[in-house]
Amino acid sequence: MERELVIVGGGPAGLAAALYAARAGLDTVLYEEGMPGGKAATTERIENYPGFPDGIGGVELMMNMQAQAQRFGARMVNAGVEAIEPGDAQFILQTGEGRVTARAVILATGVTPRPLNVRGEAEFTGRGISFCATCDGPLFRDRVVAVVGGGDAAVEEALFLSRFARKVYLIHRRDALRATKVLQDRAFAEPKIEFLWHSVVQEVLGGRTVEAVLIRDVRSGETRAVAVDGVFVYIGMEPNSRLVRGLVALDEQGYVITDEEMRTSRPGIFAAGDVRRKTLRQVVTAVADGAIAAVTAGHYLEGLRG
Ligand code: NAP
Repeated sequence: MERELVIVGGGPAGLAAALYAARAGLDTVLYEEGMPGGKAATTERIENYPGFPDGIGGVELMMNMQAQAQRFGARMVNAGVEAIEPGDAQFILQTGEGRVTARAVILATGVTPRPLNVRGEAEFTGRGISFCATCDGPLFRDRVVAVVGGGDAAVEEALFLSRFARKVYLIHRRDALRATKVLQDRAFAEPKIEFLWHSVVQEVLGGRTVEAVLIRDVRSGETRAVAVDGVFVYIGMEPNSRLVRGLVALDEQGYVITDEEMRTSRPGIFAAGDVRRKTLRQVVTAVADGAIAAVTAGHYLEGLRG
């Protein structure tokens, strides 16, 4: 199969790129192996995307973005891309629907939650340890849960969980949150949330499911077990840049380095959204990246045509 432009990843960046590319008349196909919408679709409510003064459901916003791109002719394929190899003035992609060639590729593969890397994590993932409060939070009605981390994600999800859980411990390695002020204020005002400062999880304990977390005070080194039924891990993200490792320049953390027009170090490969090295990872910046990447890819393809 021959394609002009392949977009890898169906989150906000990929969907915005698909919209702009399709409207520019490019033969565009987007590959997404999971649910459309990426991480944004696992966010219960998005309150900081302009245009929705009361917020909008993550799933609703992302379904709308997908429908909008499709309306202008972008093709969506529910399959992954396993490899990208450079070929003669084109790229060869191994995908879930076979081998595909593309003249240009936009990588919009986003990020994946960073694991705790502690004892008990592998054993209890899916049996009390979760990386998605929106997906699993309602299972913990009237139970006690712990959220690990101090960024936007941890605080936002702790607030979400406080709607179901009897108690939410927020375990953070420092005594100051990294999260946006408005989220911090809400969390401090929520009586169900108890903050365990200067603490890290050393081990997750349990039988068939999670029963406790062993936390260590980073100042004194003392450990103690805190009884919980669930653990939600929000200690940051890692870039999904494996597909282009060795093909384009990455920074020391593995994020794709681009210029302001979303060009990577290799002509024909563009990157957009959270997978890119940038300072602000939000839906609003992801869609902006996607639009720019599509326009730049369009210019690149025009150049190839002469
Ligand atoms: P983040 O901002 O990188 O925060 C990660 C948190 O986990 C930090 O508080 C960090 O502690 C802690 N941490 C990191 N490694 C740890 C470890 N090994 N053990 C214990 N704690 C550790 O990540 P995020 O909250 O997932 O957010 C990712 C991006 O998405 C950010 O750009 C964020 O703004 C964005 N986001 C935005 C919203 C929103 O706007 N509503 C919602 C979700 C996510 P330190 O603070 O000590 O470094």
